[in-house]
Amino acid sequence: MYIVQIASECAPVIKAGGLGDVVYGLSRELDNRGHCVELILPMYDCMRYDHIWGMHEAYRDLWVPWYGGAIHCSVFYGTVHGVKCFFIQPHSGDNFFNRGHYYGALDDHFRFAFFSKAALEFLLKSNKRPDIIHCHDWQTGLIPVMLYEMYKFHGMDRQRVCYTIHNFKHQGITGIDVLWATGLNNDLYYLNYDRLQDNFNGSAINLMKGGIVYANYVNTVSPHHAWEARFENEGYGLGHTLEVHQQKFGGILNGLDYSIWSPEVDRYIPTQYGVEDFELKVQNKKALRERLLLRDEDKPLIAYIGRLDDQKGVHLVHHAMYYAMARNAQFVLLGSATAPDINSWFWHEKQHLNHNPDVHLELSFNEELSHLIYAGADMFVVPSNYEPCGLTQMIALKYGTVPIVRGVGGLINTVFDKDYDQFHRPEERNGYVFFQTDSSALESAMHRALELWYTNREGFYQLAKQGMRYDYSWNDPGDKYLEVYDFIKA
Ligand code: ADP
Repeated sequence: MYIVQIASECAPVIKAGGLGDVVYGLSRELDNRGHCVELILPMYDCMRYDHIWGMHEAYRDLWVPWYGGAIHCSVFYGTVHGVKCFFIQPHSGDNFFNRGHYYGALDDHFRFAFFSKAALEFLLKSNKRPDIIHCHDWQTGLIPVMLYEMYKFHGMDRQRVCYTIHNFKHQGITGIDVLWATGLNNDLYYLNYDRLQDNFNGSAINLMKGGIVYANYVNTVSPHHAWEARFENEGYGLGHTLEVHQQKFGGILNGLDYSIWSPEVDRYIPTQYGVEDFELKVQNKKALRERLLLRDEDKPLIAYIGRLDDQKGVHLVHHAMYYAMARNAQFVLLGSATAPDINSWFWHEKQHLNHNPDVHLELSFNEELSHLIYAGADMFVVPSNYEPCGLTQMIALKYGTVPIVRGVGGLINTVFDKDYDQFHRPEERNGYVFFQTDSSALESAMHRALELWYTNREGFYQLAKQGMRYDYSWNDPGDKYLEVYDFIKA
């Protein structure tokens, strides 16, 4: 099959969170299975150019229609650790992708609407006719809309779209003028409840809703979150739309690329290890302590890695840190915040705890350090308010770092409580789960994990090894996506 993925991220070149990992990992998996996979990405100024091989201009004069005129673009080609990528570089005063960051600009809706338009225009002009176009999140929600309302009439009538939603919270709700810019001019037609009109603001359009309505198949990134999005309020107002389109909606758990995320082959950790030589893991704990200037004593080390965002339950992350200290454990946090209040809160904490030899807060995005933390920690907290899939708990499992998670979304599909899970035998359980959002719920789960570590170290290591044996690679999700592609293919 010929598959083109269109997305705003691809790890490790462009990574703000899990979306980047998934776009890369799925492409790699499909490519390994012999399918032809290409990616189309924006050419940001701040992406990691050091991870792109053989970058060269592949298409010189791409003129992308925009507001009745056209914007001149170049398209560059390079491979990212084996994955074929095209990068779109517009030459216009708007400087769409030269902002020093990926997201967070006032004109984000225009930036990514332009990107979507440019990606389709590139396919059209370069005569690429993939069987499947796979696009992701609100940034590319207009792709199926434009494909079926415009490009279909220019010879792209056999392309089918799979649309994956990684986060319902960000939907791209904006004014109708974004559509005018792309050439979708018929207001009455698009500003319609059955099409792009936002479900709550009648004068706004919702790009994610457009993706849902027009795509041939829509999925979110875990079966449980698919259920939550439809039946609880986790769809952030799109629940009814999903209900209407339930025939083509499902949940497919994300996978992990174990050529990157496995302690047996990880290049970023000083000592590689697996289930068989699990005792070597402790050397990474030592190295992590040395690197972060933490004291080296016989105590458990708990970690958190992730965006510091409301979604992630930052109040509980904060609480976990102090609870760990109260229980004579160590805590390492690696995270960055975009919200100014959360950012200054954690910077304040960092200063406050600066000289504490049992805590370290690293407030930045640091891919290399994240590997060492996964390998060096004993336990890993994920107290999210909602979590469509969550990669960090799956990575922690692979590294024999016992996850302590809140029972929502993909966390429920991947972590099974050591003491209470009713659906898994004791030897299949792999972590700790709590459900409420208050600090005592978190404490009770952390307490159970810490008690096991303090009173039955062998039992704790056994639990960690049970986690390492789970297969959360792309094997199974790869099959599922191919089933979807087969199902929708023309
Ligand atoms: P989300 O997509 O909501 O951000 P996920 O759990 O799906 O959360 O994916 C998070 C990914 O981003 C993981 O690979 C995690 O290791 C990585 N990550 C998050 N924050 C950081 C950070 N500050 N430094 C390095 N890696 C990070």
